Amino acid sequence: MDIDIWSMTLRELENFVISHNEKKYRAKQIFGWIHSKFARDFSQMTNLSGDFRAFLEKECSVLPVEIEEKYESLGDEVYKYLLRLQKDTIIESVLMKYSFGNSVCVSTQAGCAMGCAFCRSGEGGLLRNLSAYEILAQVYRIQQDLGERISNIVLMGSGEPLHNFDNAVKFVEIISHEDGLNIGKRHITLSTCGIVPEIYRLADLKPGINLALSLHAPNDEIRKRLMPVAKSYSVDEILLACDYYAKTTGRRVTYEYAMIKGINDSKNHAYELGNRLKGRLCHVNIIPVNEIPEKNFIRPERKVVQEFYSTLCKFKIDVTIRRELGSNVAAACGQLKSEFISKK
Ligand code: SAH
Repeated sequence: MDIDIWSMTLRELENFVISHNEKKYRAKQIFGWIHSKFARDFSQMTNLSGDFRAFLEKECSVLPVEIEEKYESLGDEVYKYLLRLQKDTIIESVLMKYSFGNSVCVSTQAGCAMGCAFCRSGEGGLLRNLSAYEILAQVYRIQQDLGERISNIVLMGSGEPLHNFDNAVKFVEIISHEDGLNIGKRHITLSTCGIVPEIYRLADLKPGINLALSLHAPNDEIRKRLMPVAKSYSVDEILLACDYYAKTTGRRVTYEYAMIKGINDSKNHAYELGNRLKGRLCHVNIIPVNEIPEKNFIRPERKVVQEFYSTLCKFKIDVTIRRELGSNVAAACGQLKSEFISKK
């Protein structure tokens, strides 16, 4: 009763149908129903035989992923969706409408185990990993709701994707499959807090996707204050792993840097960061922190952010400032950019 065919890759589906004495081409039909036509139950799969459908209904559980609520978050072209999963688990996904296309930010876990001090997702700890289908269906429901194609994906919602490694990788394989949504791997970005062995593991799979690394500090001392994971892996180890990712995949790595007043926003911090990153195949994305006043995590003034930005530019590092409150304050070295994840 609990075979999750919704999360199977095409290869897995082929093995599944063959082992149940069905022809191999049935796998492609089922894959198309789930990942291209967005079927939600087996009764919709009308080109399968009645017997096989009845068998699937009996053996395979259906995973509900339904839109619970939707609201416009930042006043322009940014929508937050609350989705309801099995056992009333609620997760959130975000749709961003950019000039270059529609981008969805998916969650990979309900809750998060990483416990970063500035992040709300981890406040209640980890509830559970999401299945590959529960990650996929966030995109499917939003595309259906919007009535337009989704062309970019960031794995940057709640959860740590490398802590749900297999399902995150399966998600990428299925969403980029030509019989599914066929989203180009170059248009997919996975963001991690820096679980070093898993970065190497991902790189070795040559997944073709972009990597973003939530650095948020120029050194271990500050990073340890913000992110418990920094006690396991140093900034040096992270940078080596990211260099390996860049070298193996040919994709530059994005370092995310949430600027927090009085903690990581000084000119010295910018110099320290610049010295560490110079010469690397990378991009820095400065994010004025989403404030958590009770923890004293406050946004620096705009001029402090600009100064940090200019200092990094001196190191010939490609830098953007993530747009805040819907207004575009982003400008790369010599080039205006409005997106917080480059579409390249
Ligand atoms: N676990 C992954 C992905 C989820 S978090 C990761 O750590 O990268 C997505 C991004 O939002 C991360 O860069 C995270 O550090 C950042 N983030 C979380 N809380 C934030 C806040 N209050 N202000 C700004 N960025 C925040």
